Amino acid sequence: MFHFDYFRANHIEEVCSFLQQHGDKSRILAGGTDLMVQIHEKDPKWAQLEWVVDISALQKELRYVREEETEVHIGALSTHTDLETSPVIQEYFPLLSAACASVGSPQIRNMGTIGGSICNASPAADPLTPLIACDASIVLQGVDGRRTLLLSDFYLGKGQVDLQPGEFVVEFVVPKLPCKAVTRFEKLGRRKALAISRLNAAVVLKYNEQKQIEFARVVAGCIFTKPKRLTEMENLLVGKTISRELFEQAGKAVSEEMIRVTGYRWSTEYKQPALEGLMERALLTAAEMELE
Ligand SMILES: Cc1cc2nc3c(=O)[nH]c(=O)nc-3n(C[C@H](O)[C@H](O)[C@H](O)COP(=O)(O)OP(=O)(O)OC[C@H]3O[C@@H](n4cnc5c(N)ncnc54)[C@H](O)[C@@H]3O)c2cc1C
Repeated sequence: MFHFDYFRANHIEEVCSFLQQHGDKSRILAGGTDLMVQIHEKDPKWAQLEWVVDISALQKELRYVREEETEVHIGALSTHTDLETSPVIQEYFPLLSAACASVGSPQIRNMGTIGGSICNASPAADPLTPLIACDASIVLQGVDGRRTLLLSDFYLGKGQVDLQPGEFVVEFVVPKLPCKAVTRFEKLGRRKALAISRLNAAVVLKYNEQKQIEFARVVAGCIFTKPKRLTEMENLLVGKTISRELFEQAGKAVSEEMIRVTGYRWSTEYKQPALEGLMERALLTAAEMELE
């Protein structure tokens, strides 16, 4: 295990000034379910770490789910359990609630926070996919104030996020989905319990009484280094009538996009049919159609 010092922050301003002062040698500690495991396993990225800045005392400031007229605000210290069980999240973003419910074990869900999940910058983070599908924004606090950016822009690449010296994440803002939109989160892991996603998918659909799709948001997790909405696929769906054939076609379109972007790899033989099946399943279940 690497050796480092510990600082427990009592105010938001204290966090920023400490991070600013110690730069790359300091790192936020929230639930510790990623950071402490990585330090324990001597991940070389933490070899130079001198300070962990524990923000877990800032519960009052950073642990909340707050509904406003057109959006929902989620504090960075909200745990997976908070988001799984929040009536507001269940009502407006059931796909996010489902993603948080699928994380690790009850102990991990009770400790792990949404801020930590996103800042760990793993493309396999389960809450990431629904947040991208919902066009969430992220709010960063720095010594000179706050800035807000789209979550998809916060990711610079695998393991890299746009955090400037002295900055940390305080909040996520998620615009409410259109009324009567249906959603689905699907995950494929190596085994049922404690499995990090190999693939996951988040879908939001809104269709009218004639079953014609009016609104579509689709994100596939774990396949690109930078999370993004699959806008080509969304365009393919909008205006069409829901059917098995359409969703099968959509699954194939996503796997074709994956191959176009990432090339044909050793894992493609497995990933291609798995992704097609997962995406098709997410669309079918979102549209309340029976699985074959
Ligand atoms: C056994 C096990 C199973 C798991 N299973 C899953 C799973 O199924 N799905 C899944 O998605 N994840 C899984 N995880 C990963 C993990 O639980 C999540 O990523 C967790 O949400 C991280 O949150 P944390 O509060 O513990 O972060 P920490 O470990 O405290 O921090 C993680 C990283 O984010 C940074 N950070 C934390 N908060 C902030 C902030 N507010 N501002 C800036 N930087 C910050 C830290 O500096 C660190 O780099 C699993 C982990 C374990 C150990």
